[in-house]
Amino acid sequence: MKPLIVANWKMNPETLKEAKKLFDSVKRGIKNIKKAEVIICPPYIQFSIFNFQFLNNIKLGAQDVFWEKKGAYTGEISPLMLKDAGCRYVIVGHSERRKYFKETEEQINKKLKAVIEAKMTPILCIGETKEERESGKTKEILEREIKLGLNRISASKIIIAYEPIWAIGTGNPCKIEEAQKMRLLIRKIIARDIPILYGGSVNSRNAEGYIKEAGFQGLLVGGASLKAEEFVDLVKNVC
Ligand code: PEP
Repeated sequence: MKPLIVANWKMNPETLKEAKKLFDSVKRGIKNIKKAEVIICPPYIQFSIFNFQFLNNIKLGAQDVFWEKKGAYTGEISPLMLKDAGCRYVIVGHSERRKYFKETEEQINKKLKAVIEAKMTPILCIGETKEERESGKTKEILEREIKLGLNRISASKIIIAYEPIWAIGTGNPCKIEEAQKMRLLIRKIIARDIPILYGGSVNSRNAEGYIKEAGFQGLLVGGASLKAEEFVDLVKNVC
């Protein structure tokens, strides 16, 4: 499997013009790269940067979704709307959504089911906080997030992203050896052969280690995906 590099732009950049510029630079930079699959997840309102183009090595992803198909749910976006806009992947249960929007395991499970039903691939984010890690609760947290998140979901077209919360946006990435242990632990808990990505302060210098040494099938990249040159280097370095 080619490494899957997911760019989570979060609530960036500020304007459509900047988003287009970033997208075009990344597109140009990785044009000849065939050994990695890149998924760009811009804010919904900037989906138009893709302009419904079919690109071989870049796919459109979303950062979130609502579980209902349509109706009176002010402010929400349905899986079918995402599919219709050309989206193929959807990030679900990102720690920022769990923290700031109080997303529950039950809601995350509904979102995962809705994304699968709409024939897109969900990327389920799991990971422990600094406090949970320090109090030895990491295994318990991961087991809980996997068990409840994947409750009554047998589909194998799911991706897991292990994102230790203490490593996200901190410049303090999980050490390669520890990340490898976590990958093996997650594999054991899931007991299914689905791709596992690593996310948390990944950059062009450390990216390769997570793929080639720790054995992850890809990466979820936040901050480094907003700098075109850095992101292009990161993609090149994992190929
Ligand atoms: C993320 O938010 O999913 C993430 C991994 O962010 P960063 O790469 O900035 O740590």
